[in-house]
Amino acid sequence: MNESIKILVVEDDRAVRNLISTTLKINKYEYDIATDGNSALLLMTSNKYDIVFIDLGLPDIDGIDVIKKFRGFSTIPIIVISARTNDEDKIEALDAGADDFLTKPFNVDELLARVRSTLRRINYSENNSVEDNTIFENGDIRIDFPSRTVYIKGNEIHLMPIEYSLLCLLANNVGKVLTHQYILKSIWVNYLDSDLSSLRVYMTSLRKKIENETADKYIQTHIGVGYKMVRISKSDLENNNE
Ligand code: CA
Repeated sequence: MNESIKILVVEDDRAVRNLISTTLKINKYEYDIATDGNSALLLMTSNKYDIVFIDLGLPDIDGIDVIKKFRGFSTIPIIVISARTNDEDKIEALDAGADDFLTKPFNVDELLARVRSTLRRINYSENNSVEDNTIFENGDIRIDFPSRTVYIKGNEIHLMPIEYSLLCLLANNVGKVLTHQYILKSIWVNYLDSDLSSLRVYMTSLRKKIENETADKYIQTHIGVGYKMVRISKSDLENNNE
């Protein structure tokens, strides 16, 4: 099954590259390796990949510029391999079009979990985007867009208009980390930097309303960066209930 999945790994650090390639190989994913930005772009234009993992500190061009160029012709998921400390880089990469990041040092399980959750999201959007864009479902959450109604485990919950807008924005970008700035720009029309604290307040209250009703963590906080809605599958729910 994994053989049909093709992953591009762009990383100049040999140790990290070897960890990723060995893990992908053992798990029977097909992959290509690029050790600099120019060869990455060449591979990206001549092959069809399902996921790209990219380090930002590359020897020739900045990884952010590679992401920007790549976004000019492709929408496939880009996951940035980043150092734990550098929030500025993460934010810049996300705003340039990256979907998510994997923080160094990471282990094999984290890497595989990220691959699986990304593939699950791609499958979901391929299967759902065209036929049904009036209902959003993720685990126990159900959003009925025409009536602006949200259900958790079948029970309607009451959200303030900003909470509802936040939930819809996250739902429409499930699996993608949205930066604070992106969220503020999308929801607060003329936002000020001070609106970041209201964003935090609304997000806390939204999470309470959702997560009071269900054990799963649907909205992840990426401190200093932003928020992400996690795609929860039926099997995750069953595992959590055990
Ligand atoms: Ca590097």
